Amino acid sequence: MSQLDLLRERLRAAGAKPSHERRVLRLWAQALPQDSGKRAIDDFLPRQLRDALPAIVAELGGLARIASRHPAQDGSVRLLLGLADGQTCESVLLPRGGLCVSTQIGCAVGCRFCMTGRDGLLRQIGSAEIVAQVALARTLRPVKKVVFMGMGEPAHNLANVMEAIEFLGTAGNIGHKNLVFSTVGDQRVFERLPLGPVKPALALSLHSTRSDLRAELLPRAPRIAPADLVEAGHRYARATGYPMQVQWTLLAGVNDTAEEVEGLVRLLKGRYAVLNMIPYNSVPDLPFRRPAWETAVALARELHAKGVLTKLRNSAGQDVDAGCGQLRARGLERGQEAPLSRPPDAGGVGKVFSITFSSGTSCGPPSSGVGGI
Ligand code: SF4
Repeated sequence: MSQLDLLRERLRAAGAKPSHERRVLRLWAQALPQDSGKRAIDDFLPRQLRDALPAIVAELGGLARIASRHPAQDGSVRLLLGLADGQTCESVLLPRGGLCVSTQIGCAVGCRFCMTGRDGLLRQIGSAEIVAQVALARTLRPVKKVVFMGMGEPAHNLANVMEAIEFLGTAGNIGHKNLVFSTVGDQRVFERLPLGPVKPALALSLHSTRSDLRAELLPRAPRIAPADLVEAGHRYARATGYPMQVQWTLLAGVNDTAEEVEGLVRLLKGRYAVLNMIPYNSVPDLPFRRPAWETAVALARELHAKGVLTKLRNSAGQDVDAGCGQLRARGLERGQEAPLSRPPDAGGVGKVFSITFSSGTSCGPPSSGVGGI
């Protein structure tokens, strides 16, 4: 049974009828006090539930707590969150009402440029823990957009992520196109996403148009040819009416080559897609380098001139160890956590080249918009 289902069961055991259950969960997801709302709590909730409510609210608050916060100059705030079992994960408050959430502790994809992937997958983040990241962020700032680009590969925790998306798109009052499912590309995603009542926008973490290089950079991503991934993403984008976001973590000397420009033009020109190019956040222990900003600008201009809608995005909070998983890794070094087991806006689709100072982790969310590995 999922965490959200357990929560509903808990409410029912305390005497909640479906309408009571919806009210309590809606107020939680929107970070509103339980005694707010049009109808007075005493007139609406049964006595038994009112008596149980303080304990239930405390349990909800315990799903995710702020362990540390790290504001950056660009307006983003990285949060290291402690979960009830002592594990930690990261969320990022993005400028203009965005929030990047984590879906797994660790990650099995093992991207070579990512701290999160280094130790593999430790555990899944439950559906209520995902919603709790949003509820917690809303106690700090309004949240109108949620990108699933923090720690973890959402496709590897598909049931929980889709349950959270459906909850956030209804009780959570977040517009469906403002829920952004980010993936390295997995057949199950292309099958599942069109089926639900809430269809999120799609961000595809591509990083290379060459199958061999992509397999090297994303060693345990499904082996689907880049052209086929783009085709599947494009089909979904057409079906939903939201452009596909293609994420590209720009690595100096690796995927900033003329061959990749040619490949991107071949795959993306004329597609219902926007390319989010995010210069890599250098991480001390990893061998990749961030390209010069001028190089990134020139590359984005060239792609634009060749017909690919490109947004060059700066990563959020570069001054605060911005790479996905870095805060958690740093916390572990300091003994902030005792693990239980092992251990940035897509905008339109016109041919526009723009530079956006927004946010992006290694997993890659642009703040105003979208995007991520
Ligand atoms: S970049 Fe994303 S998909 Fe890749 S290892 Fe890191 S968390 Fe996983």
